[in-house]
Amino acid sequence: MSETAASTVERHSFEAEVSKLLHLMVHSVYSDREIFLRELISNASDACDRLRYEAITNPELIAGDPEFRIRVTLDEKARTITVSDNGIGMDHDDLIAHLGTIARSGTAAFAEALSGDKSADLSLIGQFGVGFYASFMVAEEVRVTSRRAGSETAHVWESSGDGTYEIRPANRAGRGTDVLLRIKKDAREFLDRDRLEAIVRKYSNHIAVPITLAIAGKSEEKTLNEATALWARPKSEITQEQYTEFYRHVAHALDEPALVLHNRAEGRIAYTALLFVPGTRPLDLFDPARKPRVKLHVRRVFISEDSETLLPGYLRFLRGVVDSEDLPLNISREMLQSSPVIARMGKAITNKLLAELAKLADREPERYAAIWDNFGAVLKEGLYEDADRREQLLKLARFRSTHGEGWTSLADYVARMKEGQEAIYYLSGDDPEMVRRSPQLEGYRARGLEVLLLADPVDAFWLTAVTGFEGKPFRSVTRGAADLAAFAPAEKKEQPDDRPREGDVTKLVVALRDILGDKVSDVRPTERLTETPACLVADEKGLDMQLERMLRLHQRLDKALPRVLEINPDHALIRAMITRAGAPGAAAALEEPAHLLLDMARVLEGDPLPDPAAFGQRLAKALTAALAN
Ligand code: ADP
Ligand code: MG
Repeated sequence: MSETAASTVERHSFEAEVSKLLHLMVHSVYSDREIFLRELISNASDACDRLRYEAITNPELIAGDPEFRIRVTLDEKARTITVSDNGIGMDHDDLIAHLGTIARSGTAAFAEALSGDKSADLSLIGQFGVGFYASFMVAEEVRVTSRRAGSETAHVWESSGDGTYEIRPANRAGRGTDVLLRIKKDAREFLDRDRLEAIVRKYSNHIAVPITLAIAGKSEEKTLNEATALWARPKSEITQEQYTEFYRHVAHALDEPALVLHNRAEGRIAYTALLFVPGTRPLDLFDPARKPRVKLHVRRVFISEDSETLLPGYLRFLRGVVDSEDLPLNISREMLQSSPVIARMGKAITNKLLAELAKLADREPERYAAIWDNFGAVLKEGLYEDADRREQLLKLARFRSTHGEGWTSLADYVARMKEGQEAIYYLSGDDPEMVRRSPQLEGYRARGLEVLLLADPVDAFWLTAVTGFEGKPFRSVTRGAADLAAFAPAEKKEQPDDRPREGDVTKLVVALRDILGDKVSDVRPTERLTETPACLVADEKGLDMQLERMLRLHQRLDKALPRVLEINPDHALIRAMITRAGAPGAAAALEEPAHLLLDMARVLEGDPLPDPAAFGQRLAKALTAALAN
């Protein structure tokens, strides 16, 4: 390194989020600190991949040094470990952009998730890769010397993780990057040669670039990996551990994959796919960009990570590699967008994956349920986006239902359907617990009719596109008159002999219609309820209530549609109102109770009250009267 004049040294502050992350790293008591090496080797390998791709169109970049390599150097005396590569390198601005901010969305989400509670935050490291910044778990000082391929100048980036970093010009023979770590006293274990070798082996086994270990002052260098692409090796030679390590490398993850799909296709289209379903839900799963992140390769050369055109958005939780034998190596990222080869390959891979999930669902329902727990809400997007695979996806879909606590498939639901039941009943809402406790379910429960309980935002949408399953339509229990009359309650409730006569019920219905006017679209008696006096439902021809709510939320509908108020003639309150409706002065006597009844039904629905003040006054008045009696 050359002596540099103080004037050329720049001091920068880290972005606030990075500082937060660094603080956590510096004070880390995380037990798996060795992962810093995984991150550095992973970055070095990525840097080689990227340059290899650029060199396809610009061979000058690697002229004179065409063999990619990564070297780990241990200097016990100086207490340093250095990871060097001859990959793409970073120039002055790259150093600021990549090592001073959080560019990766996953890391950004990680930083946002940091709560300040140390032990909770540390467990987050275990779930999400934190990349380059992991160095600060073991190093008191990190010095990155880098020279961008094709550039004559190099720079040093240096920091001790305290909120600032320095950049200054430097010398480096040839392109690439050295990341030098000055190891903290409490991390001396990593300066042990055997330990270091074991760790590097573990994290480099699947890396396609040769990795060597060098000891400062000695000339021999030991190669530690096979340096062939893992996915190109025969399945029988790959251990579960190697798959897991590779997954962690490509996915920037630290968990175990929930499913590994390693598949080679030969013939009309030739490709290899090594795909993983993550074991935990990535923090950016619901990122609106919805980009799938599978690394596309052509004959082992990394091409692009933007696999938008390869896999559908509802498979964006997948991680891994797809390697095509058919595409030209010099395919530009723009050409990828319209390549028929990509489209065909994507189709084949999607089919393969769905078939694999179906197999798992069949053979190991519990493992499958864990995947559905994490990614079901995303897979369901396919129900309306991918009409061709709708049947397949409906079979894969799992639901909560009134039948029990666990997941149920539609096939199981249909098998449990009652004699004479024509539709698959469902209730949708925002909150799984609210849905489960909804009064709308009372009549169905009493008759032993199973109802699917839907609480993902996406549910309201796919239900508009999907007509049914095995010829059975889906029917919302909040829509239309409940077709419950056809089913006898499982347990005959002691039906009171003095059940209000139909004519008397009609009198109340008419009175309520009068009082409530256009606040409701209709009033009618229902079989739907057993414990609750009244509820709101959507019109037979209207939108499902949850869908309507979603549309309003997205400003696609500006006004709440009036609902049908359904009343339960067996409930004591309604019966009292029926009695009033038959007596003189009914309209005046029912005015206040009618409005309270409507507001109560709104509250049960989780809907906001249009006039909370009026509700409060009415309730206070009613309670005062009740207590005065
Ligand atoms: P990620 O690898 O997930 O992008 P990191 O925190 O590990 O996140 O690295 C941040 C960025 O720094 C990388 O995306 C890359 O642009 C740059 N970088 C890190 N290490 C190297 C390296 N050895 N060579 C070139 N660029 C690197
Ligand atoms: Mg990285």
